[in-house]
Amino acid sequence: MPELPEIETIKRGLTSLIINQRVNKVILHRENLRWVIPKHLSTTLTNQLINAIDRRGKYLLIRFKVGTLIIHLGMSGSIKVVDINTPLLKHEHFELQLKNKTSMRLKDPRRFGAVLFSKDGSHKLLDSLGVEPLKTSFHDGYLYQKSKNKQQAIKAFIMDNKIVVGIGNIYACESLFMAGINPKLKAGNISKTRYNVLTQCIKNILTQAIEAGGTTLQDFVQVNGNPGYFTQNLSVYGCKNKKCYRCKGIIIRFVQNQRSTFYCKKCQT
Ligand SMILES: [Zn+2]
Repeated sequence: MPELPEIETIKRGLTSLIINQRVNKVILHRENLRWVIPKHLSTTLTNQLINAIDRRGKYLLIRFKVGTLIIHLGMSGSIKVVDINTPLLKHEHFELQLKNKTSMRLKDPRRFGAVLFSKDGSHKLLDSLGVEPLKTSFHDGYLYQKSKNKQQAIKAFIMDNKIVVGIGNIYACESLFMAGINPKLKAGNISKTRYNVLTQCIKNILTQAIEAGGTTLQDFVQVNGNPGYFTQNLSVYGCKNKKCYRCKGIIIRFVQNQRSTFYCKKCQT
């Protein structure tokens, strides 16, 4: 599943490729993904200039004068920009053809993604989102403040989009390892000092992943449309039964809230 660093990388890639371009044609190759794709897009966006591209959580926001195109990649979505004459591939469901003879295509085999539109840029899916982890609003003290009386496990707490956005399973496991925090601890029982360490670890890990994403940018937007995952620097995620690089203990996997959790019993207390 594409996580925040992948979406940020896609945003940066798209910014260099489609910003200040004008839409020639919008093609809906099917009517719906997770939700119905607004039919009016094919008229609303024709001849419109792409002014800016933003990201909020895992939503890509393509800004036009007439409104904002909101895209979510769901479980398996990817985006690429190709020459307009490139044959359409299976599962490419939505296409924004530009006047410069390129085409932005959204591929989504499992169709959990979304293409939505908002005239004023607001949307109920965006309203409830928590702070951005790389912004100053996610500061030391924030998690501690929000964690008071919370009985849920720390891992579920940091993955809650209403608290902080974009920390998926991989980065939750990695951040907790880096901070030395046991993923099963109750969020309400963790000290302010430990939360401050965790906050910095989350920022570091996401920043590193985004930087690594720069190198696989071609994969995202031009070559094969497969999202690249930053597996090269993972310390615990996907490392079941491997040795912890810090203590040489064994990395354990268990299921927590229906998701795999990987952690080191010795390093994470
Ligand atoms: Zn360890």
